[in-house]
Amino acid sequence: MIIILLGPPGAGKGTQAQRIETKQGLVQLSTGDMLRAAVAAGTEVGKKAKAFMEAGKLVTDEIVIGIIADRIDEDDCKNGFLLDGFPRTVAQAEALDNMLARKDLKLDVVIEMKVDDAALVDRITGRYTCANCNQGYHDVNLKPKVDGVCDNCGSTNFKRRADDNRETVSSRLEAYHAQTAPLLPYYKAKGILKVVDGMADIDDVTAQINEVLGSLS
Ligand code: AMP
Repeated sequence: MIIILLGPPGAGKGTQAQRIETKQGLVQLSTGDMLRAAVAAGTEVGKKAKAFMEAGKLVTDEIVIGIIADRIDEDDCKNGFLLDGFPRTVAQAEALDNMLARKDLKLDVVIEMKVDDAALVDRITGRYTCANCNQGYHDVNLKPKVDGVCDNCGSTNFKRRADDNRETVSSRLEAYHAQTAPLLPYYKAKGILKVVDGMADIDDVTAQINEVLGSLS
């Protein structure tokens, strides 16, 4: 199965992607995670992407299309994958269509996670992850069961993203509305767009997504 999770920054794509990955045994491909790893490792891609990311702007199509094209060639993508944060422009969506057509694969569903802009700033500025296993948390909405200890792996090290600050969030939202929202009519026209209410509780959103996925098989 090939799935795209689409929605603004802070909609909960990463959280839900982790859950789908576990339940469906699909590998999660997050271009944001891949770019952050490239920046941390100081690769050529990382050097090119860093300034765009810090400004809350989209990295060039050429860079992200190249990353995804290489990644979906790997063995663990053979049984399908879940895209989180890609595509983000119509040019990326068209490039993905071409990549899949060349491999004789088809996109099964695009799930839009709909969230009000007003809720996103608090969601983004409060979020953090376990530095060891990447489990996501939030200062208010999703605390670890034991303060300061990851529920999943017991680590006591946590990290926050450099771009999860108020200034960058508004640029990221602008980029979403100007460049990514046009993908909604693009996929609607193909008849594969499903919408879930991303304002609901995390477990409720998971249930909505499971229902969508269940209706496909
Ligand atoms: P994310 O973790 O998905 O919020 O992505 C973090 C940042 O990485 C974004 O603000 C962009 O600068 C960059 N990025 C991630 N995915 C893409 C993409 N598909 N196209 C362009 N830029 C991207």
